[in-house]
Amino acid sequence: MDDCIFCKIIKGDIPSVKVYEDADVLAFLDISQATPGHTLLVPKQHVADIFAYDADLANRVFSKVPLIARGIKAAFPEMKGLNICNNNGEVAYQSVFHSHIHFIPRYSQQDDFSIHFGNHTDQYDSEALEAIAGKIRAQLEEN
Ligand code: AMP
Ligand code: ZN
Repeated sequence: MDDCIFCKIIKGDIPSVKVYEDADVLAFLDISQATPGHTLLVPKQHVADIFAYDADLANRVFSKVPLIARGIKAAFPEMKGLNICNNNGEVAYQSVFHSHIHFIPRYSQQDDFSIHFGNHTDQYDSEALEAIAGKIRAQLEEN
């Protein structure tokens, strides 16, 4: 992908601050440093988003998540928690369309990172939940 910024980083055409590399993945510091230590893990193979992974690539990429997480935790002992985010699609805040996993160390509730989970429990009874799950199950059974 000639116009992909993360492919350029992987090729070394654009500089990055590397934290880990192997045959399948590169991990480097996110330029925005949402919190100190904010790291991105990317597959070396260009895939746009989670929907483009096959099982083998997923295994080679996602199996590295605990390794990177433990490395960050050990590097920042003052860290209290870690958000791991994978944004897919513009509406889900994806801005670089080369799949990547964010590691965002958390130091306090005032560390300038937040996620809002709306709570709509009162709008779903067990029948409504079963209908949703049934639709997803039907797709998974097909594949
Ligand atoms: P997302 O919005 O989930 O697609 O995340 C893309 C991330 O890539 C953002 O957090 C950016 O700060 C980060 N980013 C963009 N360009 C670079 C770059 N050249 N080096 C490091 N991080 C980058
Ligand atoms: Zn790419």
